[in-house]
Amino acid sequence: MEKIYNRFLDMLDFSKQEISQLLSDFENATKKVGLEREDVKYAMNTWIPQNWDITMKGVRLCIGAYIREFIDISKINEYKKDGIKVIYGMSPSQASLFQAIKISGQDKVFVGYPDFLYSIVVGGFFNRIDLLNDNEENLSIRCRHCSLNRVRMNSAIEGIIPAPDVIWSWGFYCDEAPKTEELISILSDKKWEYIISRMPHDVYIGDEEDKNKDRVEYLAEQFKYAHGEIENITGIEIKNKDMYNTLIENSKYTRKLDKLTRLVSNNDPQPMGGNELALFGTTNSMTFNTGYTFFIEALDTIIEEVKKRISEKIGILPVGSPKLGCHFTPICVPWVERTFLENGVSISFSSNLSFSKINFQPFDYIDPYMMAAQIWLRTASSVNSGYQIKLMSEMISEYDVDGMLYGFFTFDRWLGSNQNMILKRIEEETDVHHFYIEGDFWDDTNFKKSDRKGIIQSISYFLKTKKLMSSKVYAESMKKQEKDKWQEIKH
Ligand code: SF4
Repeated sequence: MEKIYNRFLDMLDFSKQEISQLLSDFENATKKVGLEREDVKYAMNTWIPQNWDITMKGVRLCIGAYIREFIDISKINEYKKDGIKVIYGMSPSQASLFQAIKISGQDKVFVGYPDFLYSIVVGGFFNRIDLLNDNEENLSIRCRHCSLNRVRMNSAIEGIIPAPDVIWSWGFYCDEAPKTEELISILSDKKWEYIISRMPHDVYIGDEEDKNKDRVEYLAEQFKYAHGEIENITGIEIKNKDMYNTLIENSKYTRKLDKLTRLVSNNDPQPMGGNELALFGTTNSMTFNTGYTFFIEALDTIIEEVKKRISEKIGILPVGSPKLGCHFTPICVPWVERTFLENGVSISFSSNLSFSKINFQPFDYIDPYMMAAQIWLRTASSVNSGYQIKLMSEMISEYDVDGMLYGFFTFDRWLGSNQNMILKRIEEETDVHHFYIEGDFWDDTNFKKSDRKGIIQSISYFLKTKKLMSSKVYAESMKKQEKDKWQEIKH
């Protein structure tokens, strides 16, 4: 029989020794979520090579690191039998607050974001998120609820994601996650502790929230309270020194991500795609029980590979090609970015995962919870729309793009309507064209792919025409491409 599972891990640069150690666990992990042999084969031979640039070692290592966490999640029931406490985080949230728990609890605790991880792995790498998010009896696919929460709900009720000791759910801007929490407890006999942290959106439009001491203090108190509750439930003491350590580690990691983002986004030709960039960026938005060692290796590797491509002038599209920034490049439906590339337009930075000058300013406080609160309130998507417009406009002006792309969160009560309201203003501030596609970050089953591809073609056509009229470099580049094409046909 063909060794599909071996070959899959081998494709992602797992060593022979690791493959022999992890093989049966990997097979079990795929079965747990309903993936068949044929799904693994299809991902290996078709879906991953088509949508992810695995010619780059850093990308292979990064996908491999996600797979390591995927395997680890499938063992949660065994961990529980050994008395290990299980804590889940919810996206969107600040991963370092969860990482501090892991640093304090070490092997006595599992800390992870299984639903987010499954959405990326089962959706983005295997193209089979339908296995986890479609259940007529719970939240069905046709309800247009957030698929991340559908995955959580169905997987929790069906026991695919085991019951934790506690979930820390952030309702700072997503109200669907806490509501889903309640729905799970009503519809099932599964019971666990959950903590919901919230903050009223009661500041004036334009208030610079990270500089508003009352606001920072309020948020820091929410964080401290939640950590205190987690200590009571699990018995794991979360030490202040571990909060400092996680903030230091996160800051080092963030700087590396920032370096990668600028190398990719501000070089022409663009050396790597937006899917790959967002895959690296997402690692900063969730905590991994398997830790960051494998991601750091992947990140260091990709930075060197990108630098090499830049020095050799190797790009994913010809020099001068139009570039889009995106709110969050939809990595769970990676064909979107690939369709843009096929139409001659690249996606570079994701504003939700990137950094601006403000993110590297010194903190105004020395208490680690106040620092963490200030980080959150310097994030565009966490603050009032006036400040958000300012932060977004500053960020966009730091990157070299011809347009911005939004719209993959139309189902989301907050993010969906918020994006519609602020785009016009950011466009006026930055003079960068903004585009909106009615889409879904997590799951493409609600739309006809051919319709979305038609919209992508139209946006690309607009951007290319505009670029041809304004950039001599691009016009020369296109002329050369046409000439090369004719030479090829002649031969
Ligand atoms: S996509 Fe929207 S609704 Fe879903 S978890 Fe994220 S913020 Fe919440």
